[in-house]
Amino acid sequence: MLKIENLHAEIDGKPILKGLTLTVNAGEVHAIMGPNGAGKSTLGYVLGGRPGYEVTEGSVTFAGEDLLEMEADARAAAGLFLGFQYPVEIPGVSNVQFLREALNAQRKARDEKPLSGGEFLKLARAQADALSMDAEMLKRPVNVGFSGGEKKRNEMVQMGILDPTLAILDETDSGLDIDALRIVGDGINRIMRAPDKAVILITHYQRLLDYVKPDVVHVLADGRIVRTGGAELALELEREGYAQVAA
Ligand code: ADP
Ligand code: MG
Ligand code: MG
Repeated sequence: MLKIENLHAEIDGKPILKGLTLTVNAGEVHAIMGPNGAGKSTLGYVLGGRPGYEVTEGSVTFAGEDLLEMEADARAAAGLFLGFQYPVEIPGVSNVQFLREALNAQRKARDEKPLSGGEFLKLARAQADALSMDAEMLKRPVNVGFSGGEKKRNEMVQMGILDPTLAILDETDSGLDIDALRIVGDGINRIMRAPDKAVILITHYQRLLDYVKPDVVHVLADGRIVRTGGAELALELEREGYAQVAA
């Protein structure tokens, strides 16, 4: 599904990713762990196509296509979803407006007909319900005044509506209390655990991985994958710390 080879990327001339290689197959959940400043969020942004990140070397193919040649909206239409470490607030635009527009833009790019207001609302309510989010929150401006946990939950509602094939989730667990963590973890499993889908979970902590069991765990340090293992690697990291394990 995703093949990253020798990826080098920089911001403002500063090299951040320094030869990152990673293959993710359909049906797999990969966790990427690593110290602060390792380049984890940068990897997410480069894959999502955020402006300002320059790829200087390497290749990325997504579902057989050259991802780096695609515009950000084409990446989304092709089934890529990026969950942000810091979800953006959009004053003046309701969640419903935003999500319906995002979904219909993707449907249009796939030559599918747009959902009507009624059809969309039904879908959005079902997703909010599945995430135990009050449907009233769908009417509020995107993320404005939402708590950290509400933003993450809202992001999962967005993911449920867009129904991507590959989700890259950047610290989706940060700022969640135990109950919210379980709800978000259940959401990831429900929406993304399927033979034709895959997830990259970027996280500092083992605790999300108690809910979403990774097939593969990687340690990203100084712009490269320095170790790869099974779910047990996350436990080892939790016990021993990155410095020990990545050395
Ligand atoms: P992580 O998510 O692993 O904590 P990041 O990908 O956010 O790491 O950051 C990797 C490195 O890139 C850090 O040293 C950070 O300071 C630097 N960096 C991130 N964004 C910018 C930017 N816009 N300009 C300059 N340096 C940046
Ligand atoms: Mg960080
Ligand atoms: Mg980060």
